Amino acid sequence: MNIILLGPPGAGKGTQARHLVDIRGMVQLSTGDMLRAAKSSGTEMGQKVAAIMDAGKLVTDEIVIGLIEEKLTSESGAGFIFDGFPRTLAQADALAALLAKLGQSLHTVIEMRVDDDALVKRIAGRFTCGDCGEVYHDETKPTAAEGKCDVCGSNKMQRRADDNADSLRTRLMEYYKKTSPLIGYYYAKGDLRPVNGLADIIEVQKSIEAILG
Ligand code: ADP
Ligand code: ADP
Ligand code: ZN
Repeated sequence: MNIILLGPPGAGKGTQARHLVDIRGMVQLSTGDMLRAAKSSGTEMGQKVAAIMDAGKLVTDEIVIGLIEEKLTSESGAGFIFDGFPRTLAQADALAALLAKLGQSLHTVIEMRVDDDALVKRIAGRFTCGDCGEVYHDETKPTAAEGKCDVCGSNKMQRRADDNADSLRTRLMEYYKKTSPLIGYYYAKGDLRPVNGLADIIEVQKSIEAILG
């Protein structure tokens, strides 16, 4: 079963994707994580996209489609969770073509609905474990022990370079201009299932589980 988690920055896509990986053995494909890994390892592509990402603009379709294609052919599990991809109609078409080539299809597109005020608060409080990638929040999901990851015990907590007010404004505008048309696109295909992303993390998990069955 292959699914897309669709929603604005800070909607909770990464948080829910990690849960689905844990309980279902699905494979999370986050283009944001892949691009950040390229950025921090200093590859040529990483250097090229760093300034674009920090400013909150979308990187080119060609780059992210290439990343996804590589993972689709090299990883396997109980289905893929596309987290933060596709973000444009061109990416959505490319994904359909790639899945068709592999003899696979898309099961559901989960649209995580969260209003802008909540997004600002979520992005402002977000931090992640630099070792295992667990996602935390200063208020809604703090670590049990200050500065120490609940999952792996690491004390390498990180905040993202693009989680600031200026970049977030640009990211939201990019979302409304280029990504939100995907809501209509998947609705028309009959694939779209909205969930209330404003509920707490466990409630959102339950809504997604109810949809996936
Ligand atoms: P968020 O958690 O805020 O939704 P992501 O981690 O998914 O953000 O993405 C961070 C940044 O990486 C984006 O602002 C954009 O610059 C780039 N990026 C990630 N995925 C894509 C994509 N599918 N298409 C274009 N750019 C992307
Ligand atoms: P996305 O991948 O869509 O950008 P994240 O999963 O990184 O979003 O979540 C953004 C921030 O909001 C993180 O700090 C996370 O801990 C927090 N968060 C995620 N889901 C919820 C929720 N349902 N209620 C409150 N906070 C949440
Ligand atoms: Zn950790």
